[in-house]
Amino acid sequence: MPADARLHIELNGVVQGVGFRPHAQKLAARRRLSGWARNNGGALELEVQGRLKACRDFVGELVSSAPAPAIVHGLRVREVAVQSDESGFNILVSSAASRRPRFIPADIGICDSCRSELLAPGDRRRDYPFINCALCGPRYTIIAGLPYDRESTSMCAFHLCLDCAFEYANEPDRRFHAEPNACPQCGPHYIYSDSDRSVAGPKAVAQAAAALEAGRILALKGIGGWHLACLATDESAVDKLRRLKPRPDKPMAVMVADLEQASRLGRIGPHEAVLLTGADRPIVLLEAAVGLTGVTGGLDTIGVMLPYAPVHVLLLQKIRGPLVMTSANRTGSPIVTDNLEAVAKLGGIADARLSHDRAILNGCDDSVVRRAAGRTVTIRSGRGRAPAAISLPGDYGPILACGADIKSSVCLAADGWAHLSQHLGSLDDPDCFDRYKQTTASLSALLDIRPAVVACDSHPDYLSVVFARGLGLPVKQVQHHHAHVVAAMAEVGLGGPVIGVAFDGSGWGTDGRVWGGEWLICSRDRFERAAHLKYVAMPGGELAVREPWRMAVAYLVDIGLDAEAIGRVLADIDPGVLDVVIKQLGTGINAPLTSSAGRLFDAAAALIAGCRSQSYEGHAASRLESLAAGDTGAYPLDLDADTAPFIIDPAPMIRAIIGDLAAGVERSEMAAKFHNGLADTICSVGRRLCDREGLDTIVLAGGVFVNARLLSRAVGTLESAGFTVLINQQVPINDGAISLGQAAVVAAGGGLPVPGCP
Ligand code: ZN
Ligand code: ZN
Ligand code: FE
Repeated sequence: MPADARLHIELNGVVQGVGFRPHAQKLAARRRLSGWARNNGGALELEVQGRLKACRDFVGELVSSAPAPAIVHGLRVREVAVQSDESGFNILVSSAASRRPRFIPADIGICDSCRSELLAPGDRRRDYPFINCALCGPRYTIIAGLPYDRESTSMCAFHLCLDCAFEYANEPDRRFHAEPNACPQCGPHYIYSDSDRSVAGPKAVAQAAAALEAGRILALKGIGGWHLACLATDESAVDKLRRLKPRPDKPMAVMVADLEQASRLGRIGPHEAVLLTGADRPIVLLEAAVGLTGVTGGLDTIGVMLPYAPVHVLLLQKIRGPLVMTSANRTGSPIVTDNLEAVAKLGGIADARLSHDRAILNGCDDSVVRRAAGRTVTIRSGRGRAPAAISLPGDYGPILACGADIKSSVCLAADGWAHLSQHLGSLDDPDCFDRYKQTTASLSALLDIRPAVVACDSHPDYLSVVFARGLGLPVKQVQHHHAHVVAAMAEVGLGGPVIGVAFDGSGWGTDGRVWGGEWLICSRDRFERAAHLKYVAMPGGELAVREPWRMAVAYLVDIGLDAEAIGRVLADIDPGVLDVVIKQLGTGINAPLTSSAGRLFDAAAALIAGCRSQSYEGHAASRLESLAAGDTGAYPLDLDADTAPFIIDPAPMIRAIIGDLAAGVERSEMAAKFHNGLADTICSVGRRLCDREGLDTIVLAGGVFVNARLLSRAVGTLESAGFTVLINQQVPINDGAISLGQAAVVAAGGGLPVPGCP
């Protein structure tokens, strides 16, 4: 039958590098349609010709049976003139000409088909650790430019052999247009080296496995960067790794071969199983089942992930039991991506090295997620999830948002989309700051977004703010907690107003104080502070963050305890030092005021769990969460509703804790009562504000809500009272989302212009 229709189709979203063109070709062949497909900028463009019904069915099936890693954000179809001399369905050369939203595909964990081939006797890619196909393999981490074609990736250094070239060009093949396609003849290779030997090729991975089995620490080059690995069950290897990194307490992730092995380490429900096996293969925090205490840092959760690179599959085939897999860096520095850098920086830590010759162009840590309150909470967005594209409709010019200084990220927004970078670490580390600047530049180039305005935090000392001001563009400042709440609103396309509860460690407030326990009435472009935790002093400033007992002293002084009584509660603290802190609180010198919920957690962790120091952000709060058990009651907080904003005073809670300590109440019960008390207050104040403002949506945002116990109780209570509760899910719930929030605020016309900038 002659063709009576021709459709032009444009797909937007994550549609490149996910096997869409071969998918389209298969469908077209099945329906006897002619036409073509090509990557155009960041979009996929197709034309099909044939009977109208067949063309329409093609469009439906194209989207409904899209390859698993694809995410279709937009579909445009229009009818065009039928062409007379066309035969077959062709994949055309990419076009970069037109200006339209671009999307960067994220890395995809090894698929089942490639895994089978990797292990199949006789397969030409048996044991080849760079096996991939159109549906799996590295993407963002090897991309130098868009459209996504082999020439624009770090695979351009490897020339396809005849076999690979045939697969690449042959429509029915799984590797049809698989840009990183490779085999042992033409692709990259691993090389193993230690003080005695250097082994290249197929034996390299076996050597590395032997080194691990012998209790050695292996530096391993993977997809998003280098890892440090050792046997998780080998206590002395784990201790040594912690000592050298140095990482005294912070939990380390483990990798296991499969779900069955994972279930021996932690509790896996259906949602955890889906997360673990997802294309992004994140680290999933599980309720720990066994005591790998050296790995978990004494917490009751364990971070577990499954193999996502072929080399992981091979290593875990050879090794029984879980492997510690922690980002290779010195604590505080960005993940190492470069081979020479690995030699220089990891030489003193690792006993052996398993390196490869494919360049990592965009370093990404592993992503971290956990399930809580019936939701997926993102703790870190990295390999497999970054860059994340979030719809941000509106009429605004291109925006660069510079994020926060810890858990930093950047966000570029234009043409209705915001693109959030991977986790970039703490900017006080000069190497992280460099990586942050590089990533800003490379994302801007990849996405072809030249910012016309810059959004940043309002903190006077943030390095990200200094960076923003130095760009020579108009700059708008966005209050930190406003950004937190709007990030969650943006993820689901909500304009507000809502009641936003922003609980975190610290953020600069409009009154020049350190905020962090906030109830805000929030719209995209503005907010009003409706309630907050009562200000207390942080004796010693930053020192009070590292040593939580100092916050306990602040709260004890606040409820009127004298030096003697405080000395009895904190009997292990040197009385002379205690005296200095109490005096400091009296004078207020170097004791900035804060309403931070994170600091309240610190004080409670010091009193209830005996935390005296913390070596990483959220350490004390995590210990308190791990300690909590049972569900018997809640500590009270006071609400002063005669003030504007309302003031929430934890004094009754602190008094009750002191009483329970004296009465010898179980610490686990006290920890539970603390969580319950805070969650109940979040809800009661939130409900009161909703009633007053006539609202029914509450956003929970900020790093404190990484705490599953707190989040679950707050969400449960609010939902059963009929409120809609929103949290960030696709992007981090902590400061990793600040740049997205800033972009969304500025896109909506909010934020304060910074004087002195153009
Ligand atoms: Zn595959
Ligand atoms: Zn080949
Ligand atoms: Fe924050």
